[in-house]
Amino acid sequence: MAKKTNFMDKSVAESKWKTKTVDGKRLMICMNSNLEDSKWSDFAPEDGVCENWSEVGHKTTAALCWECTSRSVNNIKA
Ligand SMILES: [Zn+2]
Repeated sequence: MAKKTNFMDKSVAESKWKTKTVDGKRLMICMNSNLEDSKWSDFAPEDGVCENWSEVGHKTTAALCWECTSRSVNNIKA
C-alpha cells in the first residue's frame, strides 16, 4: 500500500530515536547514541556514543549529527 506524501500533514513521524522540542523546533538525538541500532556506528566518537542533537523536520525518523556526518565524509573510522 503506497502512501502519498501529504504536505499539509503536520503529524509527527514516529521514531525509535529520542526527540525533544525546543522553541518549537524538533530535535532528534544522533543515531550514534545507540551503536547497536545505528547504521553509522563506524563513525561514532572514539570514546563511545554520541549524544548530539540535530534539528529535524517533523517527518524525520532518524538523524545523524553533523560531527558524525563529517567523520563519515572524511571516512575516519573510530
Ligand atoms: Zn553524532
